[in-house]
Amino acid sequence: MLYKSTRGNESVLSSQAIVGGLAPDGGLYVPESVPKLELSELLSMSYQELASHVLSLYLTDFSEQEIKCSVYKAYDEKFVEEIVPIKYLEGRSILELYHGKTLAFKDMALSILPYLMKKASRRLGIKEEIVILTATSGDTGKAALEGFADVEGTKIVVFYPSEGISDIQKHQMVSQKGKNTFVFGIKGNFDDAQSAVKSLFLDDELKKQLKSDGFVFSSANSINIGRLVPQIVYYVHGYLEHVRKGIIQLGDEMNVVVPTGNFGNILAARYAKEMGLPIKKFICASNENAVLSDFIKTGIYDLDRPFKVTNSPSMDILISSNLERYLSLIGEDVNDLMVKLKTDKKYEISETGKKAMSDFYGHFATERETLSKIKSVYENEGYLLDTHTAVAEVVYEYYKKETGDETLALIASTASPYKFTRDVLKSISDDLLLDDDFELIKILSEKTGLEIPKSIETLSEDEVRHPHVISKVSIKNTVETILR
Ligand SMILES: *Cc1c(COP(=O)(O)O)cnc(C)c1O
Repeated sequence: MLYKSTRGNESVLSSQAIVGGLAPDGGLYVPESVPKLELSELLSMSYQELASHVLSLYLTDFSEQEIKCSVYKAYDEKFVEEIVPIKYLEGRSILELYHGKTLAFKDMALSILPYLMKKASRRLGIKEEIVILTATSGDTGKAALEGFADVEGTKIVVFYPSEGISDIQKHQMVSQKGKNTFVFGIKGNFDDAQSAVKSLFLDDELKKQLKSDGFVFSSANSINIGRLVPQIVYYVHGYLEHVRKGIIQLGDEMNVVVPTGNFGNILAARYAKEMGLPIKKFICASNENAVLSDFIKTGIYDLDRPFKVTNSPSMDILISSNLERYLSLIGEDVNDLMVKLKTDKKYEISETGKKAMSDFYGHFATERETLSKIKSVYENEGYLLDTHTAVAEVVYEYYKKETGDETLALIASTASPYKFTRDVLKSISDDLLLDDDFELIKILSEKTGLEIPKSIETLSEDEVRHPHVISKVSIKNTVETILR
């Protein structure tokens, strides 16, 4: 299996794609063909066995031993026993993807990426130290830091938007331990951070200088194909669990609902369908930064709109990188569209492309709808949603109302409610929330009886090790200084 760039044709091995991160032409690596699953053969597999199977279909230049070793090290006691527990609610099931160390679904891929990256770099005989440059809307940063902290032969540098992310998210990052970790707030939003980081990947002069100093760049963002592949696994797992429980029969269709930002998570579901998983509709849930759901409705991607800071901050994104992979999958001329995006801040896909997109549905949730959904689901069903998953629930409601389609839906739950304590508590309580977020963790636990996840229980006591906030124009400078 070889990988090519969405903007070119030169093929590379999966290990090269993983270490490279972004393709040299600025495109994203995609597999040249999509392997197929034989679902009936997967029914008896544990999560780890399934992950090993799916990964081995994509990462064909890794040995079976290398893949298994990475999988079992990644999905161990850091997670709960089931890895991805499922809650069965009325007419839909919640795929809880947040039981890793940092309480967001990013752990699913970022727990394994460091192992894959090390094995890939050894295989390719790379002598340089790998510098992971990461832009985060709040959750990728911490998950990547946890994954790469003190991993020999790597450094990890994270840029987060200083305004907009939750206090818990921020403290998780600025208190990160590890000699090889570097964390900076930037005065700007996620798009600013992501664009700056992408431009460093394409800065040939800088890369040349670094190479002679003994460094190469790589990425832990979902532009890295090593992020995408592990995310395919949990959709297959979620489906198979329903078959095992007798809720559906093998071959029955399911819908999936995904709260979406950079289009990585929902794209993994789309790849699962390409591999043979019977998914009927992909319900793409946006927050008020509704660039993606508008695109799905109209076929027009239009950046000309204000960037909003919302109560689902990990989805506060206007430039969704992974959409490029989807455009490539449905046969669009990616180069042409990306040029238009750069010059006109806008593009429209072809009529064929729009038809190919008919298995997608898009809508957005307002901040107010998000909060009242948390309240109603908690009061009526006793289940506590985080703000991102609540966006998915709101949009799923719109979908059912508009289409009448009641096909069983798998809702991707992307974060623990404890990660967004203030907004979650605000929605289910009438009290004035005067305490700091760490106090609110205790209050939320007392109120709901939901156990506080171990990884944040003592978070407030962890000292700040990364206090710096920089302007977005000094990102390059900062990276050079770290590596000097
Ligand atoms: C990253 C993130 C998302 C968005 O996922 P994408 O793959 O970027 O679409 C949604 N919810 C949470 C909690 C996240 O951390």
